[in-house]
Order: sequence, then C-alpha cells, then structure tokens
Amino acid sequence: MSLVSVPDTLSVDRPADTIRWAAEQFGAHALVVTASFEDAVLVHVAATAVPGIEIVLLDTQYLFAETKWLVDELTKKLDLNLRIVHPLPEVQPDNLWQSDVEACCAIRKVEPLQRSLTGKAGWITGVRRVDGPTRANTPIASFDIGRNITKINPLAGFSDDDMLLYAQLHDLPANPLTERGYPSIGCWPCTRPVAEGEDRRNGRWSGNAKTECGLHG
Ligand code: SF4
Repeated sequence: MSLVSVPDTLSVDRPADTIRWAAEQFGAHALVVTASFEDAVLVHVAATAVPGIEIVLLDTQYLFAETKWLVDELTKKLDLNLRIVHPLPEVQPDNLWQSDVEACCAIRKVEPLQRSLTGKAGWITGVRRVDGPTRANTPIASFDIGRNITKINPLAGFSDDDMLLYAQLHDLPANPLTERGYPSIGCWPCTRPVAEGEDRRNGRWSGNAKTECGLHG
C-alpha cells in the first residue's frame, strides 16, 4: 500500500471530516463503507457525514444473532443505505471453518468484499490502530494497490475510550456481545470472549495462527 495525499486539516480526531473529504474527492456514489457491526460508531459517523452513503455488510452465513440485531436497529435508527453481500450461490454453510480457516474466509469474506468494491473508488473501513500490532501504523488513507482502490480509515486514531464516548454522546445501541466480554466480533465459530486484560484480538481464531481475515492484512 502507498500513502495517499490527504489535506493537513484532516485529523484522526475528526472522522466525519475524513469521510466528507472522501466524498468530495471521489463522489459519494463512488464510496463504500464496510461495517462488521461490532459496534455502531463507524456507520453513525458515515451515515451522518454523508447521508445515503452505501454501507456493506458481508454476511458470511455465520454472523451472531446479536450482530444481526444491531444491524436491524441501526438500519431503522439511521435510515441506512444498507447492502448485504452474500457469498456466491454455490457457497453453502459447511464445516470448512473447522479444517481450513483461510479457505473459509476466502470464499465468505474476501471474494464478497471484492465484489462489493467493484466500480468504487474509495473504501471506508473501521480499522483502528489499537486493534493490534498489525494495524498499529494504519494511516487515514492509503492506496490499496492489490485492490486498486483508495482505502480510508476514518477511525484509525480512535481509542476504545473514544469509541465509548462517541457512542454515549450519540446514544447509540451496542452489540450485546460487548458487555459479555467480546471486544472483537466476527463469525460465531471463530470468535470467543476474552479475559480481563487479554488482548482483544485473542478472541479471534483462538488457537490458530491466523490474526486477520484477509480483508485488511
Ligand atoms: S471468520 Fe471463521 S467462519 Fe468466518 S469466514 Fe473466516 S473462517 Fe469462516
């Protein structure tokens, strides 16, 4: 990835400015926001900064019921322009996650993401630097050469406290799993709660060397 020239006025403290800048740069219709609905912050920032912006949920067929609940709540509350992208028709629920997580993520996440980004110029994500060591240097924007798209990370500088404060200020619903010890939420077979003080990403692909789903790493 290479850095993209962003105005000095953009700051990791003001994510809505970053999304408005992206809309001016590329046009709102050329943007797509991918959201895991682990929390409500990214979709709220995006949908209020640029009303009608496309929000994509990758439905892997293994989303938690709690995550689906949050999707429904936020879609109603924020009048989201939500697009749910499914795996290809030949991909059906199976046990691939038990034997080959790379292959499972490839057909349920990576391929659907690629379809979601087709024809778009800017991809807005919820990646944050505090997510873990592999994300510690996340820039506000960079050009993803492999996907031929500008990747925009408006929440890159947000801490966990920033996220909480933002959600409280805007009275946003939380994913019910958060208060049950799930700081990072993906598919149910590959997500577990973490203990107090444990790294947030330890709850993903626990017992496996995998740390990224292939979307961002
Ligand atoms: S996170 Fe797990 S269940 Fe979800 S796509 Fe990846 S391997 Fe499959």
